[in-house]
Formats: sequence, C-alpha cells, structure tokens
Amino acid sequence: MSDNIETGRSLNRRALMTGGAALAGIGCLSGCSTNPATGQDSVTGFYSLNDDIKLGQAEYPNLIRAFGGAYDSIPLQSYVARIGRDLASRSELPELPWEFTVLNTPIVNALALPGGKIAITRGLLAVASNEAEVAGVLAHEIGHVTARHTAQRQTRGLLANLGLAVLGVATQNSQLMQLGQTVAAGYLQGFSRSQELQSDTLGVRYLSKASYDPEAMATFLASLREHSQLEARLQGLPPGVVDQRNMMASHPRTIDRVRQAQAAAETNSVDTTARTERDAYLNAINGMVFSDDPDQGYVRGRDFLHAGLKLGFQVPPGFVLRNGTSQVTAEDRNGAVITFDAAKAQRSRTLAQYVQDEWTQGVNLSDVQSLSINGLSTATGRARLNTQKGTADLRVVAYQWDGTQLFRLMFLSPARSASTYADGIRRTVNSFRRLSDAEAKELKPLRLITVQADGTDSISTCHRQCLMAP
Ligand SMILES: [Zn+2]
Repeated sequence: MSDNIETGRSLNRRALMTGGAALAGIGCLSGCSTNPATGQDSVTGFYSLNDDIKLGQAEYPNLIRAFGGAYDSIPLQSYVARIGRDLASRSELPELPWEFTVLNTPIVNALALPGGKIAITRGLLAVASNEAEVAGVLAHEIGHVTARHTAQRQTRGLLANLGLAVLGVATQNSQLMQLGQTVAAGYLQGFSRSQELQSDTLGVRYLSKASYDPEAMATFLASLREHSQLEARLQGLPPGVVDQRNMMASHPRTIDRVRQAQAAAETNSVDTTARTERDAYLNAINGMVFSDDPDQGYVRGRDFLHAGLKLGFQVPPGFVLRNGTSQVTAEDRNGAVITFDAAKAQRSRTLAQYVQDEWTQGVNLSDVQSLSINGLSTATGRARLNTQKGTADLRVVAYQWDGTQLFRLMFLSPARSASTYADGIRRTVNSFRRLSDAEAKELKPLRLITVQADGTDSISTCHRQCLMAP
C-alpha cells in the first residue's frame, strides 16, 4: 500500500525541483485528492485524471503498433473487450474511456496505459485456460489504471523509451546502439512489488464483483511460470531466466503474493457459484493464430521465413531468433547478436558506397566488397568496435532486393571468439535467398485448435485428430 506514498514523494521531488518547495514541507493543502480505488490521499495537483486520459489516448495507437497491431478477429476482440468492460464497470473509475485490445504478437504479456487503455497479447490468451484467468489478468491491469501506477511512475520513462525506439527505425546509426533491443522492450518496464500487490488486491476485488473465481489469478500465474520455464529451456537458458518481454518480467508477481492479495481483498472467496467459463473461452480462442503472424514472417527453429516478402535466411546453431515489428534479431548465450531489417534502395550511390558511407557512417569499415549471393547483388564490410561489453567484430551485409528495397544483416560478436563465429556468419550470409512461389505457399500460420478429448484419448491420438481438423 505504499505506492501512493512513494509516488507522492517522487512528485514532491519534482515539485521541489521546479520551485514548488512549499508543498513538500507543509503536506497537502490544495493539490491533493483521495484515490477512489486505494482510498489514499495522493498529490494529483500536477497530474489530473484528465491528463491520464489524454496521455493514454495519445499513446495507445503507438503501443498497439509497437506490438504488431491489433489481432485481426472481430469476434475475439469483442469477446475480450466485453470481459474487460464488465470488470471496469465494477471498478471505482467506471467512467474512464476504457478500451481493450488483443495484440497480434506471440509475446506473453498484458499492458496498461493511464486513463483506461489496456492491451493483452494473443500469446497470453494461448497460455490462459479459461475466461476467469483472462479476466484475472485484465482485472490486474485495471488495478494499475485505477491506482494510477502507470501515470505516476512509469509513463515518462516508458514514453521516452518508445520515442527512442521508433526514432531508431528511421535513424541509420542508432541501429548500432539499438542492437539487441526491440521496440517492444522499451515498453516493458517492471512495476514495483508493492504496486503489483496493490493491483492484485484491486484485481481480486473486481474479479469477485463480476462473479469470477478469484482463484483464477493464481492458476494463471502457475501456467505462466511453466510457460516461462519451457521458453527458457527451448532457448537453452537456465530455468530461472525470464524473457524480458514476458509478463513475469514486467509484472513481478508470485503465487504467494497473489494469495496475500486475495486475503487482503476482503472478499468471500469461497463462492461455489464463482464462474470460470472454460467452454466459452476454449470456443472463443479456437482457430486463433499461435506463434508468428504470416504478415510478420515466421520463426521456424533457426530459419526466418517470410511468405509475403518471399525471403528466408538461417541463423547459426545456438542463436535464438526473435521476430520484432521493425526488425528480426537473433542472439546466442555469449552475447553475439544478429539483426535483420529492411531499408530503402539507393539511387545515387552503389550498394558498396551505401554500406560504407551511409549505413555505417562514423564506423571505420574495412574490407568492403561487392559480390553476388543467390543471384542478389550484395555488398559487405567489417569493423572492430569497442562496445560496453568489450571488443566486438561487426559484419554488415546489404542485399539489393529490387529497385526500391534493400535487406540488411548485421552481426556483432565478441572479438575474442572470432574464429568460433566466422563459419556460422558466412553460412548465414550465404543463406539469404528468395523463396519460390511454392515454398511461400507452403508457409501457413500455426493455429490453436480446441478438440474435445474423451477418457481414452492420449496426446498422440489428439495430435492425429488435430491434424485432421479443418
Ligand atoms: Zn502488474
């Protein structure tokens, strides 16, 4: 419950810096109000609920864009929005312009902007097993909004990061600084533990008011933890390592703390009529795209394949590919990074000139060569850089795709392991190619199909059934 106290302190600090010293000394005379959700006084004179609404409205489209846009299914969007609006109508701030959007990304997360703008990923929907669990996530995000956590502490850093990332797409050289980051990562700053506890407490309150089983919050967290462990294992990481884009990283919570919140929520959780709505949920997500979206290209093991652009390449063993909105990245355990993105074709200069003078401007590129790879005009060069993590080898490769488009691969690897990486980098550079029409046509998105099992079914019989499903 110390959130608002903390926040008050930081606002006072700002007030001090801007000459409003009196406020910190004499406490709340005029700039205070009681937060209806938390019941605590907070200094809001500098930052009104209207400011929250304005900020949320302005940034919501950016947030949606940064996470791959809204998922293209009207029934699923309205299903989730209905759950969200029902919960929000039972909160202390029902009059906010609440909006709920399912984001088209396999990342597992949910995000809240001030003023009632909430987003949840289809990756998260795939992890949840019933409506009550999704309601639990939405109720928790609603709690961040009504307790005004995002407005007070997160927003400035969050927006600054996003601005930087979006700018980075347009600015050539920030590519170098941006290595290893994704646009999305800038959004996903963690809340404090006390803010999380407060959101859980509020979330349990809204969940119970809507007659959902409050236990769903704990069961979802358990699934989320298993999912994170599986992801870590697939990426060859120790079980405790959580993807920074995962909900576990941006909302640090534990099942114990959720139980604590349940106890603090003063609700009678032994409600035998509490809903989970499992059937309705499995029906709603039946057919939902799982993993990558066709328009964003697919990560299939070490291959990146894009059916729309008809291109593909393969990263070396040990690298884990991640598909972002504006670029594809791959990293290995030793901090080597590969990034792949697109750029406008150059009219006034050769590809080699572009690589040397424009793309890597300010870097002393050596060994610049023009060559042909899989029928594509290609230019490449290399450099040795001093980075925060030590000396690194940079290799850049630009492929002339057509008259308007270039594609680019950039490799940054620890210089001490140059010989280890040389062969893998060469293979990846040579793997970039056009896909045939037939190959592109074969690329279909994975979809989540719900199949009812009877007592005799096993994973393998179910697998057969799923393959036969339309
Ligand atoms: Zn949270």
